[in-house]
Amino acid sequence: RDEKERLGVKDDLKLSINAVKTLEARYLLKDEEGKIIETPGQMFRRVAIHVGIVELLYDYMKFQKKGIVAENGKKIPVSGIIPTQMEVLKRAFTHLVNEEQLTGTFEEFMNFVQTKPTTAMDTIDKYEQIMRNLEYVPNSPTMMNAGARLGQLSACFVLPVPDSIEDIFDALKYQAMIHKSGGGTGFSFSRLRAKDDLVGSTKGVASGPVSFMKIFDITTDVIKQGGKRRGANMGILKFDHPDIMDFIMSKDSENTILSNFNISVGMTDEFFEKLDADDYIELRNPRTGKTVNRIKARTMWETIINKAWQTADPGLIFLDEINKRNPVKNIADIEATNPCGEQPLLPYESCNLGSINLSKFVKDGEVDYERLREVIRLSTRFLDDVVDANKFPVDKIEEMTRKTRKIGLGYMGFADMLLMLGIPYNSGAALEMGEKVMSFLQEESHMESERLAEERFVFPGWYGSTYQEQGIKMRNSTTTTIAPTGTISIIANCSSSIEPLFALAFVRHVLNGQELMEINRHFENALKNKNIFSEDLMHEVARTGNLHEIDVDPEIKKVFVTAHEIDPEWHVLMQATFQRYCDSGVSKTINLPSDASPDDIAKAYRLAKDLHCKGITVYRDQSKVQQVLYSGTKS
Ligand code: UDP
Repeated sequence: RDEKERLGVKDDLKLSINAVKTLEARYLLKDEEGKIIETPGQMFRRVAIHVGIVELLYDYMKFQKKGIVAENGKKIPVSGIIPTQMEVLKRAFTHLVNEEQLTGTFEEFMNFVQTKPTTAMDTIDKYEQIMRNLEYVPNSPTMMNAGARLGQLSACFVLPVPDSIEDIFDALKYQAMIHKSGGGTGFSFSRLRAKDDLVGSTKGVASGPVSFMKIFDITTDVIKQGGKRRGANMGILKFDHPDIMDFIMSKDSENTILSNFNISVGMTDEFFEKLDADDYIELRNPRTGKTVNRIKARTMWETIINKAWQTADPGLIFLDEINKRNPVKNIADIEATNPCGEQPLLPYESCNLGSINLSKFVKDGEVDYERLREVIRLSTRFLDDVVDANKFPVDKIEEMTRKTRKIGLGYMGFADMLLMLGIPYNSGAALEMGEKVMSFLQEESHMESERLAEERFVFPGWYGSTYQEQGIKMRNSTTTTIAPTGTISIIANCSSSIEPLFALAFVRHVLNGQELMEINRHFENALKNKNIFSEDLMHEVARTGNLHEIDVDPEIKKVFVTAHEIDPEWHVLMQATFQRYCDSGVSKTINLPSDASPDDIAKAYRLAKDLHCKGITVYRDQSKVQQVLYSGTKS
């Protein structure tokens, strides 16, 4: 309590201390002097209203389409709509009129609001409730920016990098604007001509993708100072680009070069065919399409694996798999993903994410699917409203995002759920559980998007999409994504994404030289239930973070496994299981112990490809000098 007050936060939701610290730093609104002016509960209210206010437009749409009035609804006093909310309504109204989903003037709409009851208030209250309960949390920019000046609500963006100086520097400018608002950017650099290729206008030579990436990296560093949070980037280069070997080897284990980038090699099936046939890859000049060099596929593969072993980069993205499942091929092919790889996007597309906290849905040792269904439906609707409530940093991004209305609903707290059910992460039962909850999410969110299409309109890019071919009307071209939930899982105090626990107990070094023991609450409960909890045991566990070498109740030992004890194969299997029922991608780090071999990494990469994942990233413990999370104190 004292510490929360010291931070200036009135915690009306009884959050964890780490959650309060996180909210204090960048989420809760502050006045000119930097004093916090809202409670966490008020923050969720602010978000619910600035997103849910667009429900007014959809009630108006229903009225225009079918003459339906929400007789049981409430009337919203127009005088109660504050300027930031009015701004959201005006912007969204204009777009919906331009897209021919609404007609008439804004004054006519306001007249409707003044005279007819609507469902908006009810929906806003429900949005607020699922967030206050920590059952659902939207991605960080939504909480930071809703109702604030930037108003930018999405986490993920992909920007194209065409092969001209003017276009490259446009992309840089857009990147800066996105990072300022807390969004992350992904780029494919595959269209840039190779190093030493000709520059027509000056008769000079080109410097190539890797040197251009350095400018994007520096922009990130500079904007970091004033932005909402550390900007992150994904850099992708296709396997047949002439500079591919420079790209693969571009990062270092000290993480001093391109430190704001994750990098991935863009793979297609052709690469693996060549690898299996022990054949050569022809490297093609993207400007002319001509082959300029060739390299053994095996040599490239081994270099990728060795670098990933040393530095955790590069990962792979599987472009054929991604495009096979791209529902809007009619608009464009996908060449890139967002920084953490979970969100493949078209050039200039953005996506807003949100995650459901599974640990809140275990009741008496069972999953409460009824409540889960309600929360999935509400949060799908919430995310669709975000598309309209959003203030986009660049016009082209607005246009593309509104065309596809991509949203990404996912999960966090999956490991907590398994622990509460007594299921070890590395087991067939865990895979079955993953399959059950993810297929449920996919089905229910699709059904909700279909209902929304019925109520509202199909997404504008639906005409010509695979959904039109199948005769399925959808409001959103995708509905599901498994995000890393790095920050929002701290806010919700649950395990992140679908990852296993990293450590059962660890010692956190706090500023004044003090040490603070943090113990996973499910672990603590389980030990206390068996009457085997003790301080001594906790100190012993905190040395490594796991129970590997500790003599303790075998049942507990089996269930409470941590990331490094889990065979990489289980990590990949879990990723592939969730991917089967996911429209977009799955954020997953395949954690390996520090003594893992390059061959272990090769196996994981290959398995991910064979199991139809959309991408893969590995992380060998201690392979980077500046590691954020250590398990235990023994490091
Ligand atoms: N992201 C970013 N900078 C960060 C963290 C995240 O740009 O410091 C972006 C990035 O696109 C990432 C996405 O946000 O893939 C989702 O990350 P996460 O789920 O961890 O975000 P959260 O909503 O928990 O803050």
